[in-house]
Amino acid sequence: MINVAQKLKEYKAEIEAQSATLVAISKTKPSALIQEAYDAGQRHFGENKAQELKAKAEELPPDIQWHMVGHLQRNKIKYIAQYVYLIHSVDSLKLLEAINKEAIKNNRTINVLLQVHIAREETKFGLSKEELVVLLKDAELAKLQNISIAGLMGMATNTADTSLVSKEFASLKATFDRIKEDFFANNGSFCFLSMGMSGDYQLALAHGSTMVRIGSAIFGARNYE
Ligand SMILES: *Cc1c(COP(=O)(O)O)cnc(C)c1O
Repeated sequence: MINVAQKLKEYKAEIEAQSATLVAISKTKPSALIQEAYDAGQRHFGENKAQELKAKAEELPPDIQWHMVGHLQRNKIKYIAQYVYLIHSVDSLKLLEAINKEAIKNNRTINVLLQVHIAREETKFGLSKEELVVLLKDAELAKLQNISIAGLMGMATNTADTSLVSKEFASLKATFDRIKEDFFANNGSFCFLSMGMSGDYQLALAHGSTMVRIGSAIFGARNYE
């Protein structure tokens, strides 16, 4: 049995020492394990399914900051709109418009990250750098008053080739810096660069990640996705 509280404390200390935020990815894991991590001091947790996030938010302490890290379907936003602290996986104007609508219904602003495709794999979601710029220039975006674009998220290729992973993280950091300068120069709310998971968070931190998403290294392997 993995000692969740012990693992959590180790990772949290290591990551916070590098001025980054640890998001503990608790998808598929029972609320009792999340409570253990909470009791050890963790407040940021991430899920990848809307209904699972809602169910856990309703039974766990109200000061947990819930992150949505998985691909989000527009018709599922309603489940999380009230609870979510940050949505990491936004990759279209249509999705932003739908999130804005649910944010209005809940009388709040929802923070989002734009997901950028940096990996070699075809299957991963996310915008190309060109699409990212097109989206940020879209006049429709400025009309969405109840969303705040708080930064970028990316996932590196799942490979043992650390030089490729390094290259991908360096490229996302460069994109983040350029986008911040070009589109958010007077806006301190564009501040999160979410990159790094259990297998590659150290490389991500070395390349300027401010937020890492760690699941299996803390909670143990998942039985299903
Ligand atoms: C599951 C997941 C993680 C965590 O993965 P681990 O390898 O278990 O640390 C991070 N980010 C996203 C988007 C995920 O879906």
